[in-house]
Amino acid sequence: MDAFYDLAIIGGGTGGYTAAIRAAKKGLKVLLIEKDKLGGTCLHKGCIPTKTLLECSSLFNKINSLASDWGIEIEGNPQISVEKLMKRKEAVIHQLYQGIQYLMKKNKIQVESGFGKITKHDGRDFFVQVRKEKEVLEFKTSNVIIATGSKPALPSPLKLVRNKVVTSDQMLDMDDIPGSIAILGGGVIGVEFATIFHEIGSKVKIIEQQNRLLPFEDEDISKEMKRIMTKKKIELLLDSKANLEGLNISDTGVQIPVLRSGHTEFKVEADLLLIAVGRTNNIKDIGLEQLGIDISQGFVPVNEFQETTIKGLYAIGDITGSYQLAHVAAHQGIIAVDHMTESEVHPYQPLLVPRCVYSHPQVASIGLTEQEAIQKGLEIKVGKFPFKGIGRALTLGNSDGFAKLICDARTDQIIGVHIIGTDATELIGEQALGMLLEATAWEVSLTIHPHPTLNEIFGEAALAVEGQEING
Ligand code: FAD
Repeated sequence: MDAFYDLAIIGGGTGGYTAAIRAAKKGLKVLLIEKDKLGGTCLHKGCIPTKTLLECSSLFNKINSLASDWGIEIEGNPQISVEKLMKRKEAVIHQLYQGIQYLMKKNKIQVESGFGKITKHDGRDFFVQVRKEKEVLEFKTSNVIIATGSKPALPSPLKLVRNKVVTSDQMLDMDDIPGSIAILGGGVIGVEFATIFHEIGSKVKIIEQQNRLLPFEDEDISKEMKRIMTKKKIELLLDSKANLEGLNISDTGVQIPVLRSGHTEFKVEADLLLIAVGRTNNIKDIGLEQLGIDISQGFVPVNEFQETTIKGLYAIGDITGSYQLAHVAAHQGIIAVDHMTESEVHPYQPLLVPRCVYSHPQVASIGLTEQEAIQKGLEIKVGKFPFKGIGRALTLGNSDGFAKLICDARTDQIIGVHIIGTDATELIGEQALGMLLEATAWEVSLTIHPHPTLNEIFGEAALAVEGQEING
């Protein structure tokens, strides 16, 4: 036995390293096990690389589509250097990676590189193994947090083919800009990559089996996204199912047979196919089955304090089957640590999770969609206001989209907020605080929003609940 810890965390992604810092600050002796690189998906293959690329694609797109109209003359055609683009992305990741390593040292967290697994539970303590290249270490710990995250799902019978059939992981390390790209899946990852590649000049097609993009969002958001993407000439094949058995890969590209509702099968052609149909959780071979944890549904069931059916065994982040978002993983990590160290803890409340899509325009939402509220039998009032009535949106050169507030008609309390438009992901924070504090539409309408800002849209949308909006 190598040592005894208060807490061992398996997986050093956003959830795992956040939990480690929280626990260390509370005086626990912490072991953090990571098989690859601290920072996990979000830092190395998710949030940070995609957002770095989206900033670049957005700037390139603005130079091409707006600069001249705004009186900025650029000689010659702007070009993208993929090499420099990748270098910048790596530099941003590296800086943050160094930051996490520094925080581990500063907080005296023991980090072990290797594959972590629970080997035994004696009713009180857990035995955790770390498999390294040349040795296997064993540790004893009072508590365990599983934070092993997820990886891109690859539906059968698909296999990855370099530069032809790829997932988000490979797409982030491109060495060339494809002339055309077909994206399987119109969810968050599909829509974000569609934005990047459209803006840097690829012809983009999205194949989505449901009848709308972003199927988990409010229907009005999906409709507006469809309108805007169609205007940008991104080809949308909705209600369409790809026949993956019939996929044809050649030197020149990929042919995907697609069956669209009401049509006969036809072929979609592209230089490459990006698979963006969801994520598979890393829950196998880490000892959960042997402990009797039911992982048959593909995730680790936990209570509202992130604890499994075994006392002292917690799970956080993507593997728990809740929203697969970095801030959820971090938040759940804090709840889990607080639950093992304190008597009064605020439980995890999925309805208070802001959800963001960093496409252009961006989408951000929290709480219930209008359809969910109606399904629940709630009597609701809705206030909706367009960005074209907000001066700041016009100065920024993009007034597509709207904000929509959904309130309980009896209490006026806000139960859902949905935004599509410029910087929506920066705007949702105010509403997340509002929902935590159980704000009403009346209170939001009384809030003084500075002018000219995009935030003013909330004042207008709140007034619109009673038909009292000023600029619309
Ligand atoms: P991860 O970050 O996946 O970390 C799990 C870690 O555990 C990994 O480092 C892995 O190597 C390690 N591990 C796994 N098994 C073991 C083992 N047995 N032993 C030791 N280590 C192990 N979310 C957002 O909130 N905003 C975004 O903008 C956003 N953009 C995204 C873009 C893309 C393309 C993708 C793919 C995801 C994006 N996400 C975004 C989602 C976000 O990345 C995840 O929700 C988040 O990383 C989940 O954190 P986690 O701690 O649960 O798991």
